[in-house]
Amino acid sequence: MADCIFCKIAAGEVNAKVVYEDEDTLAFIDLNPQAPTHALVIPRRHIDRLTAAQDGDAALLGKLQIAAAKVAKILKVDGAFRLVTNNGKGAGQSVDHLHYHLLGGRKLLWPPG
Ligand code: 5GP
Ligand code: ZN
Repeated sequence: MADCIFCKIAAGEVNAKVVYEDEDTLAFIDLNPQAPTHALVIPRRHIDRLTAAQDGDAALLGKLQIAAAKVAKILKVDGAFRLVTNNGKGAGQSVDHLHYHLLGGRKLLWPPG
């Protein structure tokens, strides 16, 4: 999608520290990390947010979860990490391209703020 920063990263038009990629998904380090390990896991195909996903996106969403688990292993936080998506502005979503934050490397408090 035009003017979507994550579509541009997925297309290789904007640089990012990519830690994992396959034909459907991509993971890269967040520009403004909130934990020692903070990666973003995205589908290459543009979906605005989780609530914009359709029944036909089920396989892609499953692949995203599998990719996230691989990323956790690659970044050596698979023993303790959090996977979270901010759905909508009120939840803190600032980039309208579905992404999961993968956070680890420090104690993660619950409930989150
Ligand atoms: P949100 O606020 O939508 O849940 O998360 C968006 C995340 O994307 C933020 O944590 C922000 O730091 C990150 N981000 C925004 N633009 C870029 C970028 O151009 N490159 C990278 N690597 N991260 C970005
Ligand atoms: Zn996009």
